Amino acid sequence: MRAKIVAGNWKMNKTVSEGAQLVEELKSGLAKVDASDVTVVVSPTYVSLSEVVKIAAGSLVNVAAQNVHQEANGAYTGEISADMLKSVGVGYVIIGHSENRTTGETDLIINKKIKSSINNGLKIIFCIGETLLQRKKKLTHKILKNQISKGLKGVKKLNKVLFAYEPVWSIGTGIVPKANDLEKNVNFIRNNLSNKFRLKNPKILYGGSVNTKNVKNLKEINIIDGFLIGAASQDPKKFIDIVKKTFN
Ligand code: PEP
Repeated sequence: MRAKIVAGNWKMNKTVSEGAQLVEELKSGLAKVDASDVTVVVSPTYVSLSEVVKIAAGSLVNVAAQNVHQEANGAYTGEISADMLKSVGVGYVIIGHSENRTTGETDLIINKKIKSSINNGLKIIFCIGETLLQRKKKLTHKILKNQISKGLKGVKKLNKVLFAYEPVWSIGTGIVPKANDLEKNVNFIRNNLSNKFRLKNPKILYGGSVNTKNVKNLKEINIIDGFLIGAASQDPKKFIDIVKKTFN
């Protein structure tokens, strides 16, 4: 394991009080762990962000939003802009999650979201990954290359972008890619970022059905810099266990 990032995505789960409780438990659990060089990130829903930012202040826990709107302001009912996220103290934002791509988020929208978020001083967790059909058609590298080049087009301050390789067929399915497949694809992403964007040491997380059991094997894949975790991040005991297993 090259570096140390464990990010949780709560998705549309947890009320404000449930989220607050989860972060309190994380804080006390992590205080007992030697995790000083670990970046832990949680991603509550928009309505919990303020409360979670307050509780997490001064702890190892960083806070991400799960999404952002690409425009700065205007007639976009129900949407939240990057400067609004910044104003509540959020440090990170997840962009390009496959659950949003499948409901109409295009590469162009993703690109605008990344630019707007960087302009507002946020760090990005940029999700990329192929569907099962694309994998079966052996299109994985083509898809990854396309998602990267369109998502990052014209983006400055690329050091603000973390990458999350999330094969769509692995999210929420309990299926994790074989180690050599994962290595091959993460290496492809690394080479692509190096050749096309001169990014020499990008942080690349793996996401898709990471749990307390498979994390030990996954962490042996030392070209991965950490994990983006959905289901298992919503239980503080499991999440703390994953943090411990990742870095011990
Ligand atoms: C995700 O949604 O980004 C994710 C990785 O989910 P899960 O860990 O539940 O597969």
